[in-house]
Amino acid sequence: MVVSASGASVETRCPVCDKKNRVPAAASGIPRCGHCHAALAWIVEADDANFDLVAVKSSIPVLVDLWAPWCGPCRMVSPTVEQMATQFAGRLKVVKVNVDEAPATARRYEAMSIPTLLVLKGGKTVERIVGALPAVQLRTKVSAALEGL
Ligand SMILES: [Zn+2]
Repeated sequence: MVVSASGASVETRCPVCDKKNRVPAAASGIPRCGHCHAALAWIVEADDANFDLVAVKSSIPVLVDLWAPWCGPCRMVSPTVEQMATQFAGRLKVVKVNVDEAPATARRYEAMSIPTLLVLKGGKTVERIVGALPAVQLRTKVSAALEGL
């Protein structure tokens, strides 16, 4: 799964029909396949300039991945994070934030160590996961946060 630079849209493949689609970094609804209308995985990058627009004001819950390219544990969790965008397509938006390029956002969410994962609902932090948990535990925590457990 390729994440664009903090541009306006990202290319992704439909999990149902495999057609290529472009999804916007921010939108009022959820991205759907232009061919079969299935909900698409929504993974975008954000930085200090657009974090509020892309994550805080998101129409659906957001999984924020605060990471950095030099962080080994971050690379361990990122495949699971990206899979969850497909698993929870239409219910969860994944926003990747490179803390080196978004120092104000890292400070705002007190990301003292990375990876730090946040689940935001309506802009409020409802779950906070610090460190590289095993995939099963990550999925369980994110799923529980989505269900409001
Ligand atoms: Zn499709």
